[in-house]
Formats: sequence, C-alpha cells, structure tokens
Amino acid sequence: MKTDVIIIGGGASGLMCAKAAGRRGRSVLVLDHADRVCKKVLASGGGRCNCTNLTVSHQNYTSANPHFCKSALAAYSPADFLRLLDEHSIRWQEEDEGRIFCADGSSKIVNMLLEECRAARVKISVNSEIIKIKKKENFVVVTKRGTMECSSIVIACGGLSYKDLGASAYGFNLAEDFGHRITELRPALVPFIWSKSDLASYSRLSGVTIKCALKHAKRVFKSSLLFTHKGISGPAAFQSSIYWKDGDALTVNLLPDTDALELLMQNRHRKVMLQNLLSSYLPASFCEAWTEANGFSRQLNACSEKELRRIADALKNWTIVPHGTEGYRKAEVTLGGVNTDDISSKTMESKIVKDLYFCGEVMDVTGMLGGYNLHWAWASGHAAGEHV
Ligand SMILES: Cc1cc2nc3c(=O)[nH]c(=O)nc-3n(C[C@H](O)[C@H](O)[C@H](O)COP(=O)(O)OP(=O)(O)OC[C@H]3O[C@@H](n4cnc5c(N)ncnc54)[C@H](O)[C@@H]3O)c2cc1C
Repeated sequence: MKTDVIIIGGGASGLMCAKAAGRRGRSVLVLDHADRVCKKVLASGGGRCNCTNLTVSHQNYTSANPHFCKSALAAYSPADFLRLLDEHSIRWQEEDEGRIFCADGSSKIVNMLLEECRAARVKISVNSEIIKIKKKENFVVVTKRGTMECSSIVIACGGLSYKDLGASAYGFNLAEDFGHRITELRPALVPFIWSKSDLASYSRLSGVTIKCALKHAKRVFKSSLLFTHKGISGPAAFQSSIYWKDGDALTVNLLPDTDALELLMQNRHRKVMLQNLLSSYLPASFCEAWTEANGFSRQLNACSEKELRRIADALKNWTIVPHGTEGYRKAEVTLGGVNTDDISSKTMESKIVKDLYFCGEVMDVTGMLGGYNLHWAWASGHAAGEHV
C-alpha cells in the first residue's frame, strides 16, 4: 500500500497535522499503537481540556532554542483554534490567566479532530504497532498489520509520561535512528515528593490547598499549592517543576500579600497562639502542622522581638527541598526532546532527512501550565500538515 504521508501517533499534534495535510489533497494514514487515538487529550484538564490560552507567546515555552516555536505559533494562533471550535459549535470558556477550557468536556475536542480528519479523507489505524521504518526512495513502514510505503513521514509520538495513555519512547528512538540528537529528558508539570522529615510533618495535610508565592531560583509562581499524601502538587508546584533539578530548594512565601512582621508585631501583646492568628490567612490544619514542624507553636506574647522576626522570615521563606518528583507516571509533559536545531521552524521538516517531519511534544519545546502544551501540539501539527 502506498500513501503520501504516514503520521506516527494519533494524538493532538498528529491529528491536527493529518487534517491539515488531508485538506491539501495529500493522502494521509495515521498509525497509532494504542487502542484509540488522543487518550491524553481526553484526560487533559481533568477531562475539561485546557485546550489553548489567549496569552500564547514564545515566552510561555522553554526549549534549548527559545526562538524555534515563534514561527509556528504566529501561523496558528489561539484565535485560529477557537474559530475551529466555533465551526463545530463547541462551547468554550475562558478562565483565569487566559486559559480556555472546553465547556462540554474533552471528548468534544477529540470528536472534532476525528470529524475534521474524516472530512479530509484521513485514514486512521489504531492497534498498529510499528516493527521498523526504513528510508529508501520512499519510507517503508513495517507494522504488525502489513507493510506500507509513503513519500513523507511525520513523527508525532509525544513524550514519555503516562504510559497507560499510550506514551512510549518510540518517537525519540526513531529520531535518533535517523541521526537526530535528543536533549536531556525530564518529567515536568509534575508533583514533588517530600523529604523523609517533611513527609512525617505534612503527609496528614493531603487534600489541603494554600495560596502562596513559590520561588525557585529567580522565578516566582504566585498560585496555589496542593498537599498530597506524598508531597506537593497544584499549579505553583507544577510550574516550578519545569525548572527544578535534583537537590534544588523551593522557597514558599506563605503570606505573599501581607507584611508578616507587621502582622506579628501588631499582635505581639496578645495571648493568641501563632497557629490561631495565621488561620485567618491559611487553612487551620496547615497552620497547626507548619508551626509544629518549625517549633513555632506558641503564644505571641511569649515571643521576643527577635523570635518574631525569625517567625516572620520563616513565613516569607519556608524552604522545602523535595526528595524528588513523582516522575513520568504523574508528569503532564516531558521536558526536552528532539533537538530543534536540526528541524525547520517553519515546516517542521528535518534538516537531516528529507521528507521526515516532527510535531508536538516529541520536540524540545515545553509549555508552561495553562493550555500551552496543547496549543503547541495544534500549532506544530498545523505547520507540519501545511508542508508535508
Ligand atoms: C493527564 C494529562 C493532562 C494534561 N492536560 C493538559 C491540558 O489541560 N492542557 C494542555 O495544554 N496540555 C495538557 N497535557 C499535555 C498534553 O496532553 C500533551 O502535551 C499533548 O497531548 C502532546 O501532543 P502530542 O501529539 O505531541 O502527543 P500525544 O497527544 O501524547 O499523542 C501521541 C500519540 O502517539 C501514540 N504513540 C506513542 N508511541 C507510539 C508508537 N510506538 N507507535 C504508534 N503510536 C505511538 C500515542 O498512543 C498517542 O496517541 C496533559 C497531559 C496529561 C498526561
């Protein structure tokens, strides 16, 4: 069987690429080893799919080459994706910080992509495990279901996280076989695990959320932190995990909008326990665990000014050194990927192998939390689909 384009991976970027290429009249076959396509899209945003963000710009992405994503993002904007949703009468809603969610659940987005692919005469084959791919005059793709030929191939296999949603290392391995370099890979947008001593102090807070400003190196993430039975999760933890490396400290400002020293000094003559005073600002269970763990469970009127200054400093700079992260099992994305120096930023074609293309998370482009990763999948898939 001969087709113009074979896309390996029927996820967000693969189907976007398929639809764009199909509309240009290219015959397209999508091969996916899973039993259904777009499993991550279905799970995304807790089933509500945070599908794009109104503030998309290259500054929301991290990559060894921060300029690489600019061209694809300029060619396919959040407005383009919202127009597509509108064309399919899919209701969407804007939440904080420009985040767009699908009002009726992520399955609407998957159905939309499948409809678009059908209209563009794209063929999709699931349960299609690939045995090998060779480049001769054309690409020869050997699968368990037979051998196919195509003039162009697109690697859209995504990253390493959530194996049960179809993830595999295949995209990275295939890229390497074709001579591409892979940058260092790490799980990102992932919860942290407590150190042993912090686990003993804070595991009982599982389910509690606090608003804070979490600092890592020079970056500050003002958002919420969710305590789990293993460590910390939530937007602030996820964002900092993109930059965090083993052994790094995180610093939490527990009262980002309050002058902690002023608050303590104003109450220094009261018999009130510190945890009770703090519970006007933070959940009571957290205040109790935190003051206990730090030796601050006392009445304010029993503290010297020096002690109050020390407490104020601890409230502003609670230092956590996580034992690690929950890894690819719980990471929303893989940081790093196929080195973008060897890929055209306009067409997504390999600079090493003619007619080989990439799209989505398999490349070294990682978005922040907030719909940026799916937007990268749409934009890079669109760019590849317009040229493949
Ligand atoms: C739980 C969860 C929630 C998320 N929520 C959001 C969110 O709300 N907003 C957001 O922007 N991002 C979110 N993300 C990230 C986002 O889903 C991904 O970045 C995006 O799906 C990447 O698109 P992709 O096409 O590159 O890869 P994927 O969508 O992962 O698709 C890759 C496809 O390749 C297939 N594949 C893998 N290996 C092979 C192989 N050997 N042979 C054939 N096929 C193969 C897989 O089965 C899969 O269908 C979330 C991720 C997770 C895990």
